[in-house]
Amino acid sequence: MLKKLIQSIRSPLRRPRAVRTTPEVVGNHQHSLRREQFSRNAVNVVERLTKAGYQAYIVGGGVRDPLLGIPPKDFDVATSATPEQVRAEFRNARVIGRRFKLVHVHFGREIIEVATFRANHPVSEDDEGANNAHASRNEAGRILRDNVYGTLEDDAQRRDFTINALYFDVTGERILDYAHGVRDIRNRLIRLIGDPEQRYLEDPVRMLRAVRFAAKLDFEIEKHSAAPIRRLAPLLNEIPSARLFDEILKLFLSGKAERTFELLNEYELFAPLFPASAKALKDDPEYAGKLMRQALANTDERIRLGKPVTPAFLFAALLWPALPARVLKLQDRGMPPIPAMQEAAHELILEQCRRTAVPKRFTIPIREIWDMQERLPRRQGKKADLLLENPRFRAGYDFLLLRESAGEETGGLGDWWTDYQEASDGERRGMIRNLASQQEEGGSPAPRKRRRGGSNRRRRGPRTEGASSE
Ligand code: ATP
Ligand code: MG
Repeated sequence: MLKKLIQSIRSPLRRPRAVRTTPEVVGNHQHSLRREQFSRNAVNVVERLTKAGYQAYIVGGGVRDPLLGIPPKDFDVATSATPEQVRAEFRNARVIGRRFKLVHVHFGREIIEVATFRANHPVSEDDEGANNAHASRNEAGRILRDNVYGTLEDDAQRRDFTINALYFDVTGERILDYAHGVRDIRNRLIRLIGDPEQRYLEDPVRMLRAVRFAAKLDFEIEKHSAAPIRRLAPLLNEIPSARLFDEILKLFLSGKAERTFELLNEYELFAPLFPASAKALKDDPEYAGKLMRQALANTDERIRLGKPVTPAFLFAALLWPALPARVLKLQDRGMPPIPAMQEAAHELILEQCRRTAVPKRFTIPIREIWDMQERLPRRQGKKADLLLENPRFRAGYDFLLLRESAGEETGGLGDWWTDYQEASDGERRGMIRNLASQQEEGGSPAPRKRRRGGSNRRRRGPRTEGASSE
């Protein structure tokens, strides 16, 4: 019944707008791509498959980004060979994925992702066979398995955006353009292939991808592709948490995290990913917004400088503004401050993991960074020196500066630690003696007391470091 209803509503939209069955062929005098620009390994994979009698092209970001003068993150190959046929051609190949089977061909640290041409398999009343071992959808049309192979033309049609459906023919240095992708690159537009609503229903993660590419490439989301996003954003709640975690890393570690964050909020996609953080942002937009944006801006800066970044710092920052309300709630129930803080941290991370499966190797450092915030105010005796030796000191200190930059009142703790790191042994002893007379023990662990506007004191030494190295 429900299935029929959904189908009848979606019926007129079901067929995606026709993608050209013959591509526009963009010859090498009409574009700037030359085969030497591509990863040797990607070219080798394509040539090997072609020699074996299959069709093979470089596709996706590996064509799109070089057209824009951006070095691509990786290279994807599309081929008529099935995963098993691809594997048979390469010693260093592994078939991965279930929902979407593909082959990873390994060359040292570089992985070339080889995907077999797929056919769209639209829902239709006479197509009960769509729910078989190769393809299946749920009642809302979400694709659960996508392993129906097809022709190159079919493959172009099932790709997400026009700019991602450009196929580079390595031998002829030609681009095959099935969906006016070159035009959209010229006009800097992210446009879904086919009917936007249906394509988002098939795979809601495409909404995140639209935002990611818009931020990364500084493109606009074309208005018909943008229109349904806010309404369909809650569909992200149905996506497996592990896939969402992977997408979040791509969203925030692309070097354009701050812009991505703006777009996620604009399209109401942030709340389904970070429900508690979104609530904190709504309750106190000035403080929470400042802290989150600063953390993301620092991350972008580190990536620009080629410095390592860790998702733990990022998650610690995005979740931090959600902590105080929970700590207070537990304290209201009679729990003392420190256990309340511990319990709130535990609950918050657990909840976030249900949404986006954050692996243990990141949740542990998140807790450590937060624990550091309780420990950094306690500096008496040998404590300060012990803290300095703690492997998590640097991240904890950076996090403290981040909190201060968002306006949290810490009684000048960040400056104190900046000075302490630079001080001689003698000066350090003096600083600790001064503390004893100032009765500084016991700062606020969670961001409860704060002033607006942040500290204007000039800092010596390093500034907030964003997602610092693990
Ligand atoms: P980047 O690698 O820079 O993130 P990309 O465009 O190469 O960008 P990938 O995730 O590597 O993105 O995917 C490769 C190609 O596979 C895409 O360009 C697109 O054509 C297709 N694709 C990936 N995910 C989807 C999806 N969810 N729906 C439809 N097509 C997709
Ligand atoms: Mg790619």
